[in-house]
Amino acid sequence: MIKSILETNFAGKKVLVRVDFNVPLDENQNVTDDTRINASLPTIRKIMEDGGIPILMSHLGRPKGKVNPKYSLQPVADYIVAKLGMKVNFTTDCIGNEAESVVENAKKGEIVLLENLRFHPEEEANDPEFSKCLAKLSDIYVNDAFGSAHRAHASTEGVTHFVAEKYAGLLMLNEVKFLTLVTENYQKPFVAIIGGSKISGKIDVINELMKKCDTIIIGGGMTFTFYKAMGLEIGKSLLEEEKIELAGELIHTAKQNNINLVLPVDIKSAYEFKNDSPAITTDFNNIPADKIGMDIGPKTVELFSGIIKNAKTVLWNGPMGVFEMDNFAEGTKSIAEAMKFATANGAVTVVGGGDSAAAINKFGYDENVSHVSTGGGASLEFIEGKKLPGVEALY
Ligand code: AMP
Repeated sequence: MIKSILETNFAGKKVLVRVDFNVPLDENQNVTDDTRINASLPTIRKIMEDGGIPILMSHLGRPKGKVNPKYSLQPVADYIVAKLGMKVNFTTDCIGNEAESVVENAKKGEIVLLENLRFHPEEEANDPEFSKCLAKLSDIYVNDAFGSAHRAHASTEGVTHFVAEKYAGLLMLNEVKFLTLVTENYQKPFVAIIGGSKISGKIDVINELMKKCDTIIIGGGMTFTFYKAMGLEIGKSLLEEEKIELAGELIHTAKQNNINLVLPVDIKSAYEFKNDSPAITTDFNNIPADKIGMDIGPKTVELFSGIIKNAKTVLWNGPMGVFEMDNFAEGTKSIAEAMKFATANGAVTVVGGGDSAAAINKFGYDENVSHVSTGGGASLEFIEGKKLPGVEALY
C-alpha cells in the first residue's frame, strides 16, 4: 500500500519533498502560471502545520544536465516569498555542502527550496550516487510530483531506495484516486473525449479506452485523418498521412466491439491558420477543398454534449479545436460546459493534463469537474494502463 502523508506526523522532522514546480516563466523570469505551485500547497502546509520543515526539490525546463540561469528555480523561491509570505531558504545547488548546511540550519515555519535538479545529468540518468546525495538531506521522503511520475529519475525513483520512510503527497494521492476511478472503478455509461492535434501520441490511449468505454468521441485535428480514412474531402486540414490506415482500423474495431465511435458532424473551417481568417461551417462531408478545419460546429456540439450529459464517467483528453484562437474556441468551451453539467448530474469527470487542462482553466470550469490532472504525459500513461515508476516506487 502507498502511505499517505496523512498517516504520519512530521513534528520536528525535515522532509524531502519532490514537487513539480516546472512552471512557465516570462522573459523577465516572472512566474506566469502558478497552478503547479498551488497544487503542492496542501502537502507543504500539512508538513508545516505538523511542525516539520519541507525541503522542496523540483526540475524546471530542460537544462540538459548543465547549470543554466534561465532554468533557475530562484524565481519560484521569490514567488513563494512574495505571494505566499513564506520564508524560503534557497540553495544554489540541490546537493552538496551548501544544501546540507542550509537544511541543517532551517527552522520550523521555514521552507528549503533546492536549485533545479536537472542541472545535474545524474537526475535524469537515475544515478544511485546522486540519489544518495539527495537522501543525505533527509531520510523521510514525500513525492507530490505526479507530473513527473512517469519518469524513473533520481528524485522520483532512485532516492526512494535510500530513505527510511516514503509517502505520497496529497496531490499525488488525488491524481491516483481519480485516474483509478476512470481506469478501473468506472461507472457506465463511460464516455471518453479524445481531441488534440494528432492521433500519433494517443493511439495507446484510444486502444485502451476501446476496452472500457461505451462511447469514444473524437475531435480536434485528429478528426481529419479519420475522415480521410472514410474517403472524405478534408481540404487543407491537419492530416497524418501515415496514420490513415490506423484510423480506418480503429473505426473497424469500434464497430466490431459495439463501441460508439463518434466523429464531428459539422466543421468550422478557415482559409488560413489564423484567428481572423474568414470561416464557414459546413457538414462534415462538405469541407471546402481550400480550407482548414479549425473547430467543431454547433450540430456537433449538440451531439457531443448530449452524450456527455448522460454519462456516469467522462474522461477528456485533448481540445476539440484550435482553442488558443478565440474564433475557434467555441467547440472546446462547449465541451467544458457539458462536463460541468455532467458533474452536477453526479458523473465522475476527469480532465487529462496538458492542453485540455489549459483549456478548462482558460474557460474557468476547472472547479466544476471532479478532477483536472496536473500531469500531461503522466496522466496519458496512467490511462494507457502503464505503471508509473514514481508511483510504483512509493509502495
Ligand atoms: P495535443 O497536444 O495533441 O493534445 O494537441 C493540442 C493542440 O491541438 C492544441 O494546441 C490545439 O490548437 C490543436 N488542435 C486542435 N484542433 C486542431 C485542428 N483542427 N487543427 C490543428 N490543430 C488543432
